[in-house]
Amino acid sequence: MRQTDVGIVGGGLAGSLTAAMLRRAGIDAVLVDPHPVYPPDFRCEKLDADQLQTLRLTGLDAAVMRASTADREFWMARFGRVVDKRPGDQRGILYDTLVNTVRAQIPARTPFLHAKVTDISPGPERQTVKLSNGDEIAARLVVLATGLNIGLRHKLGLERGVISAGHSISIGFDVQPAERLPFTALTYFAERAADGMAYITLFPIGATLRANLFGYRDLHDPWLSEFRQAPRETLYAMWPGLRRLLGEFTVPDFIKIRPVDLCVTKGHRQSGVVLIGDAFSTSCPAAGNGARKVLVDVERLCNVHIPRWLATPGMDEAKIAAFYDDPVKQACDARSAMKAFELRSFSIDRAPRWMAMRWAKFLFHWGKGTLRRILAPRPPIHEEAEGEAPRLVRSTSAHE
Ligand SMILES: Cc1cc2nc3c(=O)[nH]c(=O)nc-3n(C[C@H](O)[C@H](O)[C@H](O)COP(=O)(O)OP(=O)(O)OC[C@H]3O[C@@H](n4cnc5c(N)ncnc54)[C@H](O)[C@@H]3O)c2cc1C
Repeated sequence: MRQTDVGIVGGGLAGSLTAAMLRRAGIDAVLVDPHPVYPPDFRCEKLDADQLQTLRLTGLDAAVMRASTADREFWMARFGRVVDKRPGDQRGILYDTLVNTVRAQIPARTPFLHAKVTDISPGPERQTVKLSNGDEIAARLVVLATGLNIGLRHKLGLERGVISAGHSISIGFDVQPAERLPFTALTYFAERAADGMAYITLFPIGATLRANLFGYRDLHDPWLSEFRQAPRETLYAMWPGLRRLLGEFTVPDFIKIRPVDLCVTKGHRQSGVVLIGDAFSTSCPAAGNGARKVLVDVERLCNVHIPRWLATPGMDEAKIAAFYDDPVKQACDARSAMKAFELRSFSIDRAPRWMAMRWAKFLFHWGKGTLRRILAPRPPIHEEAEGEAPRLVRSTSAHE
């Protein structure tokens, strides 16, 4: 039986970050995941400034920065009007590239076992982890980072509490514009509550323009199959104003559509096992908090809690509880849940309060954008920086 201090089950973003951070801190760990290379998967494809700041605390930001694409300038628009343009502070990166980049930062001396964990027998001192290839690991602590996979959680007596079933829908696709665009990154907000959508965000990943469209339609809504068959026509029928900015385009590849439930795990306060990332609770992709939750979980766990836990004997429930009670983690989880419901109401609620909020936000950003233009007028950028996203070649009057 292989002995280690920490057995990490699952090598997605959460597990891979944990493995990289622990080894850098000189803590003995073993990572287990069936995929030697993380496969293409539609998940988080953009990191915002807050997420990048938390990533810096993990010490793994430099590699991710190199593998991702800067948005350079960010436009915000609604009703066919650009209400604000600001310097970009986000990085586009496909999820498999993100995870595989983090995995590449795991020092070679950390064992990475390519198998599925089939069983965990937890206890206050040592945990036994059984693998699909017949191997066994004895660990002082198990970090469960298995994402949405429910199999192991059942074996540990953990329950999945669904807070909001089918909370939102995420749609991801590549966009091939007919002509070069006036922006590098654009977020276009829903025009009406009846749209059942939140926004579309377009951003560069390498030389590709990627689109993430978020909304609140049922998975069986015929609009989704119409969108899959004729994305441009269906999108512009809903948001005619977007055509003024994006123009004609084609979608060269398969459109990925994913429904998301908001869930939390119950019964997680156990000896010897700690849950992080989506294995602990999921978040709404539209509110963009999933990666932040993962980053905060891993940063707190590896920088604060695991070093303390390993410094004394045993791994009882009281020790593990310190992570779940961590005020930084709790604030992040609470914010994530609050944002998920707030954005939904903001986007589709027809009550006067939310209608007023939508207009207030539109006017706020329009005012901010106008002020920005007055205070810091900038000539349009005609040049294309090397290795960066495509740039302005035609002007638009949409914001004038
Ligand atoms: C469609 C979609 C769009 C999203 N968009 C955004 C966004 O724009 N912004 C944002 O911040 N967040 C977004 N998110 C959320 C974010 O992507 C997730 O929160 C994050 O990827 C979770 O990472 P994780 O490591 O917890 O799980 P995962 O990345 O799912 O990793 C789980 C790992 O566990 C492994 N595993 C499972 N079972 C076992 C087992 N028995 N033994 C061994 N290994 C196992 C799997 O192979 C996998 O590698 C999105 C999510 C979805 C679904």
